[in-house]
Amino acid sequence: MNVRDSEHMIAELNKKESYELTQNVEDADLIIINTCSVREKPVSKLFSEIGQFKKVKKEGAKIGVAGCTASHLGKEIIKRAPVVDFVIGARNVSKITEVVNKKGAVEIDTNYDESTYMFGEYRSNPYKAMVNISIGCDKSCTFCIVPVTRGEEISIPSNLIIKEVQKAVDSGAKEITLLGQNVNNYGRRFSNNTSGAKNFTQLLREVSQVDGLERIRFSSPHPLHMDDEFLEEFAKNPKICKQIHVPLQSGSTNLLKSMKRGYTKEWFLNRCAKIRELTPNVAISTDIIVGFPGESQEDFNETLDVLEKVKFDALFSFKYSPRPHTEAQHFENQVESDVASKRLQKLQARHKEIQKEIMDAQVGTRVEVLFEELKSDGKVAGRSDEGRLVMVEGSEELLGKILPVDIKSANITVLHGVVTE
Ligand code: SAH
Repeated sequence: MNVRDSEHMIAELNKKESYELTQNVEDADLIIINTCSVREKPVSKLFSEIGQFKKVKKEGAKIGVAGCTASHLGKEIIKRAPVVDFVIGARNVSKITEVVNKKGAVEIDTNYDESTYMFGEYRSNPYKAMVNISIGCDKSCTFCIVPVTRGEEISIPSNLIIKEVQKAVDSGAKEITLLGQNVNNYGRRFSNNTSGAKNFTQLLREVSQVDGLERIRFSSPHPLHMDDEFLEEFAKNPKICKQIHVPLQSGSTNLLKSMKRGYTKEWFLNRCAKIRELTPNVAISTDIIVGFPGESQEDFNETLDVLEKVKFDALFSFKYSPRPHTEAQHFENQVESDVASKRLQKLQARHKEIQKEIMDAQVGTRVEVLFEELKSDGKVAGRSDEGRLVMVEGSEELLGKILPVDIKSANITVLHGVVTE
């Protein structure tokens, strides 16, 4: 989502101002740091990065801070780092061309409704495009700062989404990733009256009818909103890639309750089993937080149990980080840091073994790959339908094509194969 916000800012600065991208920070007239605030670490890195940029930037070059840390620290940023010219929140990226010319501007209003705003066009990958379908988040997960930084959840009318998708396809995109903090809760609240899709499943159907579009992905869904109708559409719609993120957070029903996730361990396992039943070749990924307040050894064992039962393709795991404006920062029973670290290590080590088994089992299979990047060693890289990184020998002729590949060898992150035709 932050990558997409960056693309929007680049597009606007391109269209309405005379800025162009440079690869050299020393040449830049404008430096924008787009930030995350989900965990503490990126926030503390911000100020050291500002210091680095201050040292290398050319005279008169402006520095701006964008994104979620901008939303939650606001003018504090300029107070702590006066070299910063402007601050622009995650919800306000469409105002980039206004703030860029206003020294000291702080634009962080989360009520600001930019959901129907049509941005200029820019994307980092010619074959893949991201399209926002909703902004903000209405959940109240007790660990999470996102609802505060990105504001309330608003869905974008589907006719506008279809237009964006069509535009991307017309300029060469083969694959679209639909984006929302809570993407499959689409339709909860619209910015204006809309006659199109009213829920995520209907939206997927509409998007898949766009001529020339070959692949659809989405990020990130919530397990609670994975009803049967959605999982059936996911399974049977050939344009939807068979990769799904099902963020677990914890395998303990007690902890899920104090996280306010709205589901139980059993519901989670039931949804994953249903996904596999309907879509046998699916790749399932997840997010897990360890060391959430009150997490006992038994709670953690429940998480390990889900790992064994689901066997995730990819795991994004984090040590709990107390965040401002969240309920959980005030919870008692905060878990000791070294206990949490040990649990994280254990979880990641077991996941690595599982991941190796999954990747080894790909050898001898045939997968469909969208080739997207030329590597310096004569290899071309792409993603299989299931989202796995695949490399083959080849040249730029492969770029932008979707072709069958026979997998010959694997390591924990990459499949190596040959294009077959
Ligand atoms: N709505 C998005 C959330 C993005 S944050 C989604 O569902 O994917 C991505 C992940 O960061 C979350 O799923 C969670 O695992 C992790 N996370 C969020 N807040 C956290 C915190 N306070 N400490 C540690 N990890 C956190």
